[in-house]
Amino acid sequence: MFDSENEFDFENRLMTASASPEDSEGGADNENSLRPKAMDDYIGQEKAKENLKVYIEAAKGRGDSLDHVLLYGPPGLGKTTLSGIIANEMGVNMRVTSGPAIEKQGDLAALLTNLNEGDVLFIDEIHRLSRNVEEILYPAMEDFALDIIIGKGPAARSIRIDLPKFTLIGATTRAGQLSTPLRDRFGVMLKLELYTPEELAMIVRRSAGILDMNITEDGSYEIASRSRGTPRIANRLLRRVRDFAQVNGSGKIDSSIANYALGKLEIDELGLDNTDRKMLETIIRFYDGGPVGLETLAATVGEEAVTLEDVYEPYLMQIGFLSRTPRGRVVTRMAYEHLGIPFRAINDKVSGADQTTFNFD
Ligand code: ADP
Repeated sequence: MFDSENEFDFENRLMTASASPEDSEGGADNENSLRPKAMDDYIGQEKAKENLKVYIEAAKGRGDSLDHVLLYGPPGLGKTTLSGIIANEMGVNMRVTSGPAIEKQGDLAALLTNLNEGDVLFIDEIHRLSRNVEEILYPAMEDFALDIIIGKGPAARSIRIDLPKFTLIGATTRAGQLSTPLRDRFGVMLKLELYTPEELAMIVRRSAGILDMNITEDGSYEIASRSRGTPRIANRLLRRVRDFAQVNGSGKIDSSIANYALGKLEIDELGLDNTDRKMLETIIRFYDGGPVGLETLAATVGEEAVTLEDVYEPYLMQIGFLSRTPRGRVVTRMAYEHLGIPFRAINDKVSGADQTTFNFD
């Protein structure tokens, strides 16, 4: 385990893709002001956008509401933003809530009965809805009706309330955790992918424009290439680099000030921060580079397994530093090289273990 000096600071992590209060707090440069409002301003995710445009146009042509949509992918990739754009393009209002916020059936019933015809109900973290809340969502999604039980015992009777035809947009980081009946009720399922550095550079320049910052093309690439494929992180790094440019430079963001600032923030050229490096080093130091089971790793670094899986692993796997095997997580040779640690192939370890017949599993 770790002593206090070595402890992971997951809570205050600059590179976490989850929204932090700073992202959404007041001021002109909060997250909302940077959210694109129209499909054409939403950069990247071409596949999802292309399909969505067809569905939206078709639904509008029929004068109908859009089918229920499930958006899935790691945090910070633009699920909430895209949902707002869908509502805008459909010309309807959007109500925003989240799975953990809906505690009782009545909470959801109140939300649903207050919707207008065609409105979008956005439920973030929909995989965290409780089972009994989920149950009243089924008829609501399928038949646009609520079945409510009134009274108790033999006197209990069920009444049905009609709802306006609405569109449910569910967002989740883990589509696999959705129950099958819920997943089956979504007509449209879209997976959001990590962004390329080119797309992120465009997002950084767009945000800089909105925030009235002076940024060079090189500067935007420097930030983009260290943002782990995630717009939320790109926007957050842009704000931090702006501070350095203002205090230590001329105010203009070019690649050298971006490089300087990101160095100060201990974010390396691949976008890994101390936490990533410590996580990889833990696997190498404590588990010989892996394989190590997710739960075991989570216990060693003092973090929930789901957080490791949703927030840290997607990027480490995308850049080929971590691989998932049936026996657990393995750090790859590329990661060793990046960290400057001599590599020992798994085969060496396996044959070593075989010879000595040690088996810790
Ligand atoms: P999620 O709901 O997936 O966690 P959000 O929709 O809250 O992510 O997006 C986080 C931030 O990233 C938003 O403030 C938005 O400005 C920015 N963003 C996300 N996707 C895009 C995109 N495709 N183009 C431009 N900005 C984006």
